[in-house]
Amino acid sequence: MRYAALADVHGNLEALTAVLDALASERIDQYVCVGDVVGYGADPAACLERVQALRAVIVGGNHDLACAGRLDLGWFNDAARAALVWTREQLSVAELDGLRRLPLTQTVGPLTLVHSMLRRPERFEYLMDLAQAVDTLTACRTAICLIGHTHLPCFIEYDLDERRVLRVLTAAQELVRVAFAMGDGARRALLNPGSVGQPRDGDPRASCAVIDSERGECAIRRVPYDIASAQRKIRDAGLPTLLADRLVVGR
Ligand code: ZN
Repeated sequence: MRYAALADVHGNLEALTAVLDALASERIDQYVCVGDVVGYGADPAACLERVQALRAVIVGGNHDLACAGRLDLGWFNDAARAALVWTREQLSVAELDGLRRLPLTQTVGPLTLVHSMLRRPERFEYLMDLAQAVDTLTACRTAICLIGHTHLPCFIEYDLDERRVLRVLTAAQELVRVAFAMGDGARRALLNPGSVGQPRDGDPRASCAVIDSERGECAIRRVPYDIASAQRKIRDAGLPTLLADRLVVGR
């Protein structure tokens, strides 16, 4: 099976469209999305519709839940909160209800999906250190745990028997193709595909991942998109301008 992993689309339709166009030639069997389809960007409804049209398996992110009233807006900084209030007004009752019902974790084949950390997904903690990664990897019952939330692509491999972190990959050139022992019951991998709609690793191109479970391989793909259009829509919508400015620097 070939899986495409999307995370943190954040209402950026230009980035999502470019990513889906790039993935169209990848023979993808199943799309998955690890949350934050909405929030920040100017096209929340259109992004939701595109992701749903993929029949993607989706888990909720903190922005998705806050939009739907399942997480307090006090959790967010000023710009994020302003964008959430705006986003809520753009979505229909049915769309908000769909966001409200999103599960926090899902399993599909060898993948476990969660927006943040696996043991307490409702806390939306950011992956800051290896201890957190190990905590999630030891709670994971499948070969790969897919996460989002930090908007930073990474791959962390752990051996349950040896209780040892085997690899931590964060550099772009290392993530272009990562071979992984899928069938080894003691191995676990944590993969963040990076953010489709608001990359924060200094590369403004949209980010996503392709996972090939037969070959035991995953790869981070970077896709250029029309950043200027996405920025213009954010400004025209009256959303905080820093949400437009940051797209071009990828921070
Ligand atoms: Zn996010």
